[in-house]
Amino acid sequence: MKIVAVLPPVVELPEPSPGYLFNVEKAYNLHEYFASKGHEFVTISDANESLEPHLADMSIFICSPFYPAYLTKEKINRSPKLKLALTAGVGSDHFDLEACAARNITVAEVTGSNVVSVAEHAVMQILILLRNFVGGHEQAVNGEWNLPKVGAYAHDLEGKTVGIFGFGRIGQRVAARLRAFDVKLVYNDPYRREDLEDELGVDYVPFDQLVEMSDVITIHAPLTEQTDTLFSRDVLSRTKKGAYIVNTARGKIMETDALVDALKSGHLGGYAGDVWYPQPAAADHPWRSMPKQAMTVHYSGMTLEAQHRIEIGTKDILDNFFEGKAQKQADLIVDGGEIVSPSYKIK
Ligand code: NAD
Repeated sequence: MKIVAVLPPVVELPEPSPGYLFNVEKAYNLHEYFASKGHEFVTISDANESLEPHLADMSIFICSPFYPAYLTKEKINRSPKLKLALTAGVGSDHFDLEACAARNITVAEVTGSNVVSVAEHAVMQILILLRNFVGGHEQAVNGEWNLPKVGAYAHDLEGKTVGIFGFGRIGQRVAARLRAFDVKLVYNDPYRREDLEDELGVDYVPFDQLVEMSDVITIHAPLTEQTDTLFSRDVLSRTKKGAYIVNTARGKIMETDALVDALKSGHLGGYAGDVWYPQPAAADHPWRSMPKQAMTVHYSGMTLEAQHRIEIGTKDILDNFFEGKAQKQADLIVDGGEIVSPSYKIK
């Protein structure tokens, strides 16, 4: 059986890392795993040209959301042997899910593997924006000492209203962590979670209300037909003046140019996140140079601890596949010819 994985090339790290698994060479230790089973395992870094010769005979395809290979309907239709499309991480929007369902290809991901890592990153980026950390840090390294220039745009988080858009595993963990900051927490999700509202100190609000009342919006919904460019020019114009947005979900949930304009005009107070569209982001992607931002590259969910959990979860999914066992329901996005994940099947 041929298995193909798309992973970043090997790069020289400035200092040794204790457990870096995310490149074509380490490949989550899957080279050893597949060799022990007698399968052919090909790792490539270029999801376009290098993938082409493998489409015809690959049975399993693996990639991660950090370094996605966009498996379009057209590519899926040229992969007649493909049985399993595996996301080594969380978020499978890089696969055309309808096309996978139509071809009865199972789509699975390592659910929960990096949700703590992302929740921590989102809380960090909320604080970085509100405290105007980037401005303060730049002065520290540039030899400046101009306190008003930083403090005049810095805020406490305490007392602010934080709107959590998408109240699943990550959204709930963000709420749990933010609670200690004495904020007002509201959330929106197609599935209202009354059972968690008291425990996490959150109130359910309709989407428009969340947009209009939040000082900070943090986005944790998957990229679907409903959320694609949902944060459009119109929605951004309805946010509070000076509101902050943090998006560690998917870049395409935002309307790219409208976001740049909202930051340039001063309507938004700031934007941070680690997700872009497309990825890897081009050197001249407009979000790299927009003002009032604290963007990072897409690494919130690939801490060393998360990489380790992704390795274990990926192997579990592969074990189940090879042994003909049922996958964990929570890991399944597409199965038996239909989209089965509650987060992706919302219409
Ligand atoms: P999850 O499935 O546990 O939760 C997603 C939540 O979003 C669900 O409660 C779902 O009902 C809700 N949702 C779906 N459609 C919605 C809509 N139209 N409006 C509002 N809410 C909606 O997933 P999770 O583990 O919390 O991850 C959420 C997303 O974060 C993933 O889909 C992925 O795109 C992204 N993610 C990013 C990273 C990263 O490294 N930056 C890592 C993991 C996940």
